[in-house]
Amino acid sequence: MTVSQLDISAVTVLGAGSMGHGIAEVASIAGYDVVLRDVKEEYVQDGYEQLEWSVEKLAEKGQVEEDAGTILNRIETTTDLDDAVADADIVIEAAPENLDLKQDIFSNIEAATDENTIIATNTSSLRVSDIASETERPARCCGLHFFNPPVKMDLVEVVSGEATAESVAEAAYEFAESLDKTPIRVQKDVPEFVVNNVLTPFMEEAGWMLDDGSASIEGVDAAMVYERGYPMGPCELNDFGGLDVLVHTREQWKNPIPESVHQRFEAEELGRKTGQGFYDYEDGDGVSYVPEDAEGVDTLRIEARMVNAAARLVGESVASPEAIDIGMRLGGRFPEGTCRTGDKVGLDRVLEKLESLHDETGADRYEPADYLVELVENGQTGEEAGEGFYDYTGDGPYFYVNHELDDRGVLHVTLDRQERLNAFNDDMFAEVETLLTSVDTDEVQCVVFAGAGDTFSAGADVSAFPTMEPAEMMDVDESMVAVAEFDRPTIAKIDGHCLGAGLELSLACDFRIATEDSTLGAPEIDLGLIPGGGGTQRLVRLVGEPLAKELILRGKHIPASKADDWNLVHQAVASDDLDEAVGSYISDMVQGPPIALKVAKDVINTGRDVDLESGLKLEKQGFSTLMTTDDMVEGVTAFREDRDPHFEGR
Ligand code: NAD
Repeated sequence: MTVSQLDISAVTVLGAGSMGHGIAEVASIAGYDVVLRDVKEEYVQDGYEQLEWSVEKLAEKGQVEEDAGTILNRIETTTDLDDAVADADIVIEAAPENLDLKQDIFSNIEAATDENTIIATNTSSLRVSDIASETERPARCCGLHFFNPPVKMDLVEVVSGEATAESVAEAAYEFAESLDKTPIRVQKDVPEFVVNNVLTPFMEEAGWMLDDGSASIEGVDAAMVYERGYPMGPCELNDFGGLDVLVHTREQWKNPIPESVHQRFEAEELGRKTGQGFYDYEDGDGVSYVPEDAEGVDTLRIEARMVNAAARLVGESVASPEAIDIGMRLGGRFPEGTCRTGDKVGLDRVLEKLESLHDETGADRYEPADYLVELVENGQTGEEAGEGFYDYTGDGPYFYVNHELDDRGVLHVTLDRQERLNAFNDDMFAEVETLLTSVDTDEVQCVVFAGAGDTFSAGADVSAFPTMEPAEMMDVDESMVAVAEFDRPTIAKIDGHCLGAGLELSLACDFRIATEDSTLGAPEIDLGLIPGGGGTQRLVRLVGEPLAKELILRGKHIPASKADDWNLVHQAVASDDLDEAVGSYISDMVQGPPIALKVAKDVINTGRDVDLESGLKLEKQGFSTLMTTDDMVEGVTAFREDRDPHFEGR
C-alpha cells in the first residue's frame, strides 16, 4: 500500500517519549510528512534528537532507502497542539498511560481537526472505547499499538473499540502495512489486547509454580528456553521488563499476584533495573541457568494457560488464530504461534491440564475457555486429529512458507519467519516438502525460493537442540530431496544470510543467484554438528572437496562474490540488479521446453552420482524420450523458420 492509495499523507504523533519518537521515525522513513508534538520544547527536542541519531545510524548501515537528511526533512516538531494536528490525516497519541490525560488529548484533537481525521492511541493497557468515549466521533478512533522500540519491532496491533468504524480499522491496518509493519486486527478492546493477554500467563504462571514449589527459578527458565524454544525464560523476562509491570497489570485487572512476585515487588527487587529480581545482577551471576536445570519441569502448565488465553480470544471473536500466532511470534518473539503450539501439544491434553489444576486449586485462572472445551468436545483436538485451531485436512496450513503461482507458472516461495531470520524449524521444513509434493507440476514452470525481509535463511532453529533426543530432531532430508528432485527448475534468490539449512536449501536448487553482500556458509561445526539435509554431499559435488572442507570444517562464512569465484553461486550481483538477474533465469525457464528441462535436470542430477557409462545410458534414454515430443518438433521448426519457439510441454 502506497501513501497515495491510502488517503493518509500527513501524520501527527503526540508525545515524543520512548514510543512517540519511534513511531514518528517509522512514519517518516515510510515517506509520510510527520509532526511530532510534546508539551515542552525540551521534551520534543530530546525525542527528536534520539530519532535523528537513530535515522542517521540506519542510513549509515544502508538500512533505509533514502539519505538521513531527506527522511529528517519530513519531520516537524512543535509544542502547539492545534498546529500539530490541524492538517493531520491520522493522529497517533503516545502520551503517558493515564485515562484522564488521554481522554483530554482526544477531545482536544477532535476540536482541532476535521471529521475525517483518524484518531489513534498507542495505549497498551487502557481500553480504546474508554479513551474515545469523551469524543463526539468515537467511530473515527482506534488503537494502534506499536511495540518497543517501534523501529525494530515489526508488529502493530490494530484495535477496534466498541464504536470504531470498520473502515477506520481497515485504514489503520493499511496505514500500519504502509509503514512496513505487520499489523494484526484486534476486533474488540479486551484488556491487554492480544499479545499481552497471552504473554502474561507465561510470565505469571512461573510465579505460581515457584510459590507451590513445583519448579525453581532456574528450572522453569531452562525448561521454557531449552525444551520449548522460547527466547527467554519467564523469570528472566520478568526481570528484563520489570516485576512492577507485571504487578501493575495484574492489579489493574484485579487479578491475584503470585507471592514470589509480590514479595520481590515489595522489596523493590524489580529485576535488571534495580540490580536484583529473580536473579542477582549486582553481586550474583545474573541470569544463570543451564539445560540440565530443565529436568522435571511441567512446561505444559505454562503453555496450557497461554493456549487457554488464545482460545478465549478466538472464542470471543477478538482475534483469529492466525492473528494471534503472528502476534506471539512478532510481539512475543515466540518460536511459534500459541494456537499452533496448542494444536501440536493436543488441545485435549491442554484441557486436561487446566481441569486438573482447576480442581486442585479452585483458582479462576485455570478455568478452561468455552471455546477450548467446545473444540475438544467436537474432537478438534489439534494436528493429530486433523483439526484444532487450524484445519490440517488439506495441504496446509502454511505458517512460514508463503507461496504464489503467477500467471507465467512461476511458483514464488518465500521463507517467512523474519523474527528468527527465516531460520528453519520443523514446520518450515515440512511446509517446503508439502508444497513441492502437492503442487500441480503441470501448472508450474519453475520455482523461485527467496527469504522475507533482509535474509534468505540464517539456518536451522537450534534453540531447542540441547535437550532434544536424536529421534526428535527435524527431518531435513525429505524436505531437501523434495526440492532437489522437483520436476521443474528451481532458483534460489539469495539476499542476506544464506547459512546452514538456508545454504542446504540453495544447494538443492538448480540455480543460485545472490547479491554481492550476501554471506554463505555452513556454521554447523561451531555448534558441534555437521550440515544436514545433504549439505555435506551436495557441497562436495558442487565445489569439490577442498573448498567444501574449507566451508564445513572451518565453519567459514564467505561473501557471495567469493562464492561466485568458487562456482558456488551462478551469479553475484549488486543489490539493485538482483530482480533483473533472477528475472532473466526465470524467462529462460518459463520459455524453455518443459519436458526437455525436466529430462535435462534429471539426467544431470542422477548422472552425477553414477559412473560415466550409466550416465551416458541415462542421457540416451532421455534423448530418445525427447525425440517423440511435440516440443522437439516445434523447436526444430522454429529454428528452421528463424522464429522463437512456443513450447507446450507435450
Ligand atoms: P513516555 O513517558 O516515554 O513518553 C510520553 C511522552 O508524552 C512524554 O514525553 C510526555 O511529556 C508526553 N506528553 C504528556 N502529555 C502530552 C500531551 N498532552 N501531548 C503530547 N505529549 C504529551 O511514555 P512511552 O513509554 O512512550 O509510552 C507512551 C504510550 O505508549 C503509553 O500509552 C504506553 O502505555 C504506550 N506503550 C508503551 C510501550 C513501552 O514499552 N514504553 C510499548 C507500547 C505502548
